[in-house]
Formats: sequence, structure tokens, C-alpha cells
Amino acid sequence: GNELPGSAAFPAPSISLSPTETRWSDTSTFASRKKLQGWCQLANGDWSLGKILSSSGGESLISLHDDKILRVKTEDLLPANPDILEGVDDLMQLSYLHEPSVLYNLNYRYSRDMIYTKAGPVLVAINPFKDVQLYGNDFIEAYRRKSLDSPHVYAIADTAIREMIRDEVNQSIIISGESGAGKTETAKIAMQYLASLGGGSGIENEILQTNPILEAFGNAKTARNDNSSRFGKLIEIHFNSSGKISGAKIQTFLLEKSRVIQCADGERSYHIFYQLCAGASASLKDKLNLRNAEDYKYLKQSNCFSIAGVNDSERFHSVLEAMNVVHISKDDQQNVFSILAAVMWLGNITFTIIDNENHVEVVHDEAANTVAQLVGCDIDELKLALSTRKMRVGNDIIIQKLTVSQAIDTRDALAKSLYSGLFDWLVEQINKSLKVGKQGTGRSISILDIYGFESFDRNSFEQFCINYANERLQQHFNRHLFKLEQEEYVQDGIDWAKVDFEDNQDCLNLFEKKPLGLLSLLDEESTFPNGTDLTLANKLKQHLHSNSRFTGGRGKSFGVIHYAGEVVYDASGFLEKNRDPLHLDSIQLLASSKCQLPQIFASKMLTLSDMPLALPYRSNGADSQKSSGQLFQLMQRLENTTPHFIRCIKPNKFQLPGVYEQKLILQQLRCCGVLEVVRISRSGFPTKMSHQKFARRYGFLLLESVASQDPLSVSVAILHQFNILPEMYQVGYTKLFFRTGQIGVLEDTRNRTL
Ligand code: ADP
Ligand code: MG
Repeated sequence: GNELPGSAAFPAPSISLSPTETRWSDTSTFASRKKLQGWCQLANGDWSLGKILSSSGGESLISLHDDKILRVKTEDLLPANPDILEGVDDLMQLSYLHEPSVLYNLNYRYSRDMIYTKAGPVLVAINPFKDVQLYGNDFIEAYRRKSLDSPHVYAIADTAIREMIRDEVNQSIIISGESGAGKTETAKIAMQYLASLGGGSGIENEILQTNPILEAFGNAKTARNDNSSRFGKLIEIHFNSSGKISGAKIQTFLLEKSRVIQCADGERSYHIFYQLCAGASASLKDKLNLRNAEDYKYLKQSNCFSIAGVNDSERFHSVLEAMNVVHISKDDQQNVFSILAAVMWLGNITFTIIDNENHVEVVHDEAANTVAQLVGCDIDELKLALSTRKMRVGNDIIIQKLTVSQAIDTRDALAKSLYSGLFDWLVEQINKSLKVGKQGTGRSISILDIYGFESFDRNSFEQFCINYANERLQQHFNRHLFKLEQEEYVQDGIDWAKVDFEDNQDCLNLFEKKPLGLLSLLDEESTFPNGTDLTLANKLKQHLHSNSRFTGGRGKSFGVIHYAGEVVYDASGFLEKNRDPLHLDSIQLLASSKCQLPQIFASKMLTLSDMPLALPYRSNGADSQKSSGQLFQLMQRLENTTPHFIRCIKPNKFQLPGVYEQKLILQQLRCCGVLEVVRISRSGFPTKMSHQKFARRYGFLLLESVASQDPLSVSVAILHQFNILPEMYQVGYTKLFFRTGQIGVLEDTRNRTL
């Protein structure tokens, strides 16, 4: 039915549904249905479909598929949908909407390689972990001609294009999901569709060729995904007035720098290191004094050098090819490889202790020599920068010797900065090549691929940043699909019973409040010379213990109750990572380089040194009004677009095809509020158009003339002529509101007539 659920928890651990929607309301209808099927929950928590043999006294006997007979409480049984609804392509069509029916429907489709399903306005994509025959030019063409309309990324991209043109509003495709759920592949599939619109002078190919470059430098093998993106990406594709691509712009965030210097057992650092070692020509190897990946300490620590089914050498050549396409000159390519080799060699630099206070000197060996040569600096200055620190005391500069651990930190910080400087520089070069043409309309479609919520056994600063970013995205999702939607109904005065959802604003407040929020307190502690990770953790507990989204913890640990569940963070390393401590000595070393790239990195760092803090969201200390964080800018940009959401689901932890783990999937569906979205869409009016626009758009289809020419009268006449049922729309003060699917007939007729 279409009844409004009384309340919909969002995203409560177990989803409450209105009884009329999910359960048999009384036993008479229940008994009258022959061969009735129902869902019951097994001891392991999985749901199973069974035939109801009999029911009496509040209990039912059901026979499961494996012929096992089970006695269950009748009230615990959930009704199954009729067979004709098997595998529907939009969950909105299910008569009974509850967790087992949604799981079953998705599984029914998944096992037939139909990996895409609509959940109202949201596209759900389940990672197939194998090639499925759903892509390529024939499919793109079919979606463009609308001869195919089953749910697909192509269909989403097509809708985005059409709405961009129809409404003259920028669009965004927001892709979310856990690591390994398929976000990056989905983003590429969307890009493929948009690129097929063409643009001339090869711009569409350039756009596609940014993927192998960014993946080589920003992706790595992790425990969860052999090709895990360790950065977030927003690509904005611009169009001209004839609907062709005129250019593009890429913005990246939160590159995981720590991976350059260490990663967990069985994981790898960034692909490009292994690709370079495997694929460099003899002369390049010679020039860079390049060894095998196994010879570099940064790469060796995790004891993993190859990925099953991946040929790093071949990949290297694809990257070279792609760099040519985006106009990175051969000279610049050489410079890039020099920096990469310098980073690897930096990890091999060692120190000797020179006194009984643990002070050190850099060992003058092949590693130090090679780094100096590749970075283009003097070897003695390099040694000095890694073993001492200049300090200003009053008007004097004193030179302080570093201890072993300080020297190692300094070396590692230099490696991380070189790498992230290189990454940013590459993105800049790519953007120059893709530059948004002057003849653009200013209209664009943005695709956002940002890593999903993370909760591990040990969660550090990286997870803290990622989860904060996801908290913001979830807010964006909520706002668009619940808050703004309902506010619009109320404002336009239509009949509407409010649907509740769980707002995560209070969690955002926990992060953002000034001066006593997580971010402010972190920044404050980072600027205290005597601040440590422990004093930070204590300060958080002292000020935030009464916040309902904050949970304490022992020592350096503290917890946050995120929209997707509680995460316990370990504050170890927070201050150092937030300070991002590249000393002035190291920056000056780079500035003194004879080579172009290190100089560029240094000058960037010098201009940024007013705000050296690494967090994505940053309030400028001098002017707290001006929030200059990347994430803040990103959200602002997205705020002005019409969003299209794709939720990627990882069906199993093994990256295997055909394995559908109910519990894992359910947890992801709950996390992202899929059921609530379906419920609100089914009871709501997702399509809306002003009276004027509606009259203008479809008025010419009228067969009989209308007495009054005011937009509302024309609109009503159209609705009558097309037999749109009264329960399928509502007339608001300024707009017409439609249930899903209603406007399709009108659009089709219009397109045929035009
Ligand atoms: P995420 O970006 O969410 O971490 P990826 O997009 O990198 O995940 O996907 C992980 C892996 O899953 C890919 O390397 C690929 O092997 C597989 N995969 C994802 N989406 C698809 C798809 N549509 N078709 C085939 N394989 C896919
Ligand atoms: Mg990814």
C-alpha cells in the first residue's frame, strides 16, 4: 500500500515499519491465502523464505526450502511478496517493504547479473567482482535512445544530462560506499557515458585517460581492495551549449600520505612505485639509479610486491601513454620519475648516533648521494636538513641536533611531502590540459568518488578525517532526500504527513563547534608546544564528555557515535599528522634545488605555511569567519547542484563473484538509509514542476482549448486529458507534485510530438 509509515527511524539498527506495510494485519486474510509464503529469521540471523503449513495459537509451522520444518511465532513471520514482484527493478514496487524482501529482491537480481536496482531516487549497485555484460557502446547507445530503461549508471548519467539541459542547473553524481564496494569503477562508468557525448579535439579521451594516472599515483592494494583509492576525487565535466564536452576539472582531497612511508602487512604503497621499478627502461633505470622494489625499505616493510592478475610493467606503459595524452611533456615525465625514485631512496637513508644523547648524523652512502642527486640539492645540505633543526631564539638562530627518532620523522616527513607535492602537481598539470574551454555554457556535471566510512580495529587520524567527510556527505544526502523534500511539500501547502529520519546534525556539531568541538580542540592542541596525543585525548574528554555523540575511552582512545555506528579512535599520531611537520629546514632544502619540481613544491609550502594544518576542514585562525577547508568548499559546490546518488554495496569480504552475504549487505543498506529513502519516495512526490513550466512544456499537447489561459487551468486540463489519477499528484501553491513515474507518459508524448 501507499500508506504513510507512522515513523521511520533513520538509520536505526532495526528498521521500524508501519504494521500495515510489513505484517499481515489479521489472521483471517492470512489464513485465506493459499500456499502462503513468509520470511523467518534463522538462528544465524539470516532470513529464509518458507511455506506456511499451518498456524494456530499464535504459532506457525513452516517448511523451508531444504524441507526442514520450523515452528515459529506467527508474529515474527514477515509476509513475502507475490511472485509477480520477483526481482522488480525498483524497490518502490514491492508490496511488502522490509529487510528480508529487499535483501531477497537484490539477491534475485544479483544472481542474474542485474547488479543495479533503484531504491526510489537512489541507484543501488552491487559489486559483481567479475565482468558483466552491461557496458560498452551498444549499451550506451541503447540508454541514450531510451530503448533500454533498466536501472544502470548510464541511466543516471543520462538523467543528469537531461536535467542539466532541461532545468539549466548543474548536476552532481554522488557515489558512496565502503572500500571495495565499486565506487571508483562506477565513477569511471559514469564518465564513460558522459564522454560518449564527445566534445571534439579528443577532450573526451583526455578525460578518460586521467583515470590510469590518478589510479597509479593515488591507489594501492589494501586488505579490502586490490585497487583501493587512497584519495577522494571530484571531477567536474563542463558542457557547451550544444551539449558537448568543453573541458573538465579535477579536485582531489585527503591523499593518504602515511602510506608512502609505511603500510600494513600484505598491503602495498602506491602502485606507481612498483610500476616504475618493473617497467622503467634500462636507460631510465640508469638515470634514476633504480633498483627492484624489494630493495627499498619503504616498500619492503609490508612484504607484498605484486597483485594477482596485475602486470605492473604493462601498467607502467599505460601510465606513460596516458601522460602523453594529457600533455605532460617527456621532460616533466622524467622529473616525475626522479621525485618517485628520490622518495624510495629517502627511505633507505640511515643515521649513526654520534653522542650519548642519541643525536645523529646521516650516513654518507649511496642512498644519501642518490637522493641529493635526484632532488637536485647539495649532499651536505641534505645531511644537515635531516639531522639538525634551525631554531630562532630571540634574534639568534641556533642549530639544534636531532635525535634518532626526530631524524627519522624528519626524513619521513620529507618523503611524504615530496610525494603529496608531486600528486598535487600532477593534478594541476592534468587540469591545465583539460582546461575548461571559454565557449562553455558554465553548465557542468560533477562526479564525486570519495572513500567511504571506515571502522577498523585501530582507527587513526586518517579514519577520523574520512569519517568526518562522510558525516558531511550523509548530511547532504539527508538534506536532499528528507529535509528539503519535506520542507518543500509543507511550503507549497500540499497534504503531507511528516516522515521522521535520523538527523546527524548533532554529530557534525560535535566536530565543528567552536571553540569546543573536535576540530577546534585538535587545532588548539596542535599549536601548543607541549601538547601531546595524550593531552589532546584528555582535553577532548574533559570538554566533550557530556556530548551524546562522544564516548570516552582509556588513555589516548576516544569514541564518536557516527551515523553509521560508533568508532573508537586512537589519538596516537593525531598531533603530528595534523601539524604535518615539514620543517622550514626541509622546505629550504627543496627551495635550494636545481630542479624544477622541488622548487615548485617548496614555494607552495612557503605560501601555505600560514595554515600548515592538514585537516580538510579548516577555519583560518586569523579570520574565523572564513572557512577555507577543501571539504567546506566541496560541500558548497555540491549544494548548488541537483544531486543523483549511487550507493555501492560490497556483497562479500573476499572480492569474489557470486557470494552474497546477507548480514554484510544489510549492514550497508542500513548505514545509508536505503529503506527509508524508498519509503519516503513511495509516499512522497519526487517529481515537481511549477504551474508555468508545466503549462508551457505540455500545453501544446492539449486537444481541446481551455477557457482560461492561466497556467494552473492549462495544467489541470493537461492532467485530465492524460488521465493522471488524483492520488498520483497534488497541486501546490506554486508547483505540481507527482508521484514517481507519472510524468513519463507526458514526456514520451511530448518527445514523439516534437
Ligand atoms: P571502491 O572504489 O569502492 O573502493 P572499486 O571501484 O575500486 O571499489 O572496486 C573494487 C573492485 O571491484 C574493482 O577493482 C573491480 O575488480 C571490481 N568491480 C567494481 N565494480 C565493478 C563492475 N561494475 N564490474 C566489474 N567489476 C567491478
Ligand atoms: Mg575507490
